[in-house]
Amino acid sequence: MQAKKIIALVAHDNRKIDLVGWVEYNWRSLLKHDLVCTGTTGKLVSETIERKRSTEGGAGAPESSIRLLKSGPLGGDQQLGALIAEGGVDAVIFFWDPMSPQPHDVDVKALLRIAVLYNIPMACNRSTADFLISSPLFDKPYVPLVKDYSAYIQRKL
Ligand code: PGA
Repeated sequence: MQAKKIIALVAHDNRKIDLVGWVEYNWRSLLKHDLVCTGTTGKLVSETIERKRSTEGGAGAPESSIRLLKSGPLGGDQQLGALIAEGGVDAVIFFWDPMSPQPHDVDVKALLRIAVLYNIPMACNRSTADFLISSPLFDKPYVPLVKDYSAYIQRKL
């Protein structure tokens, strides 16, 4: 992955306020990267960054690049999983709700699995997101090692 990364941001409804708070704090760092978000999360992230830009003097800051996927329950998590499988996502910030079942729980599980499979850095709470965004690797090129799963495939043949 390049120094400029593609960062996925997703939050369940009960965690959106937490993600907005995190974006408010980190908006300048996030503007150095491209963002991809599930639908409703993406609208909130975009509004938050634009609000911060207008109130905190973001004149010199780069334009935000935010790709909006479908809303999570309508397939957005699956779209994100497919992007990860294709090498189109470098890090995931996923504030999932540990207290409420979701209509798309199976998609959530699939997204978590595919991020682990491809060794994508993934933060599921604010502390981990803080550690991730403050890592020296966040703004540098990095090559994640992906385990060789060919033995699994061979076994099936
Ligand atoms: P949303 O989807 O951003 O459209 O709310 C998030 C999710 O529930 O996975």
